[in-house]
Amino acid sequence: MNLPLMRGRELKPPLRRVDPNSNAPLAFRQANEIPSIGRPRCKLVLRFPVNPETKAFYRRFYSGTTAAEWNDWHWQFQARIRSLADLEKVFVLSEDERAAAIRHSGTLPVGITPYYASLMSRDDPEEPLRRTHVITTKEDLLVPGESDDPLSEDHDTAAPGIVHRYPDRVLFLTTGTCSTYCRYCTRARAVGKPGGEYQLTPKQWEQALAYLDRHTEVRDVLLSGGDPLSIADEKLDWLLTRLRAMKHIEFLRIGTKIPIVLPQRITKDLVKMLKKHHPLFMSLHVIHPRELTSEVSESLARLADAGIPLGSQTVLMKGINDDIAVMKPLMQGLLKNRVKPYYLYQTDPIRGSSHFRTTVDKGLEIIEGLRGHTTGYATPIFAVDAPGGGGKIQIAPDFVVGRRGDDLLLKNFEGKVYSYPDPGGTLGAEKQP
Ligand code: SF4
Repeated sequence: MNLPLMRGRELKPPLRRVDPNSNAPLAFRQANEIPSIGRPRCKLVLRFPVNPETKAFYRRFYSGTTAAEWNDWHWQFQARIRSLADLEKVFVLSEDERAAAIRHSGTLPVGITPYYASLMSRDDPEEPLRRTHVITTKEDLLVPGESDDPLSEDHDTAAPGIVHRYPDRVLFLTTGTCSTYCRYCTRARAVGKPGGEYQLTPKQWEQALAYLDRHTEVRDVLLSGGDPLSIADEKLDWLLTRLRAMKHIEFLRIGTKIPIVLPQRITKDLVKMLKKHHPLFMSLHVIHPRELTSEVSESLARLADAGIPLGSQTVLMKGINDDIAVMKPLMQGLLKNRVKPYYLYQTDPIRGSSHFRTTVDKGLEIIEGLRGHTTGYATPIFAVDAPGGGGKIQIAPDFVVGRRGDDLLLKNFEGKVYSYPDPGGTLGAEKQP
């Protein structure tokens, strides 16, 4: 169970801290959930930025809250909007939203940090960020092609939490907990469920680690969930240390939305701990330019300054970001924050997701609107994660127009055709110029 360290000490899995005085609902205290609410840890939290829109919000809806509490991620986590009453305190709910919240049961609970709620419209149910987090009855509509586990992750699960699909890399679903719950989540079947399949016990983590220890072909581990940054520092440090001790694992990645929806979580202590585990990359789940606030800039700067290469993953959604006027500032804003736009995904066909899904043509249209029209670094890879476990399949605009003898005919971003001398080549031969 314990990891012998070079220095002769043993590293033991830290015990989960539970505040016996906490009056938080039981769900807050499930395994892997964040430690209890407490007093602000130190005065440094006061230095975290608060954008003007958010400041006005917390003064209005959390008037008894001090700046130090607001900037304390423990406070943000425990004060999450989880119930109909919580929603009604902050939002003017539509009849549809209210009806959906009343009858909701099962997995994928409502969960929104007060900080993230401050970016949403109070009155407009169609506002993009609100649509992605406030439940509606559209989730009850099932259409052909949808399923609970469209990517067949359960089928490819080789050990608790380990999805081993690709030859040299695995997905490690470390936890079922997130700070916010996205209504389009690929793992809606499992996240936010107390005692659910990814709420792994220490014994299950050990089984997962034993699997990775045996599989020396694995050189890349992507920690996901749920959100791995919802795991307390000590426990995450323990897990990363165990992974780092495996010589065949060349690098680690963390997939997370927390720097965007709970930026206060990126404390100096967390960053100091993460720095010990290089090479460590981070994939950030970002969907809209409105998410790029001064708070998020601070959290991303802390991570980038720690030498963590940052990439983004964006889910393409109808009426939320399927517009070049939204996507271009998002991609450019990410670059300004030292995040390389990495993937743009088609929404996975989970149950009740048809209101979020747009056509694949739309994704291609957006890539065409970026490619050549802005910095190349700002153009992500557009991909469909193939239902049935086929993995990510890239879809790219076709710039090959045809062939004329030894010349390959190519179309540039403005639609103008150019020829490139390509003797002996065959590309484009099947197309009529
Ligand atoms: S943060 Fe990620 S894992 Fe959590 S609900 Fe959103 S998409 Fe799902």
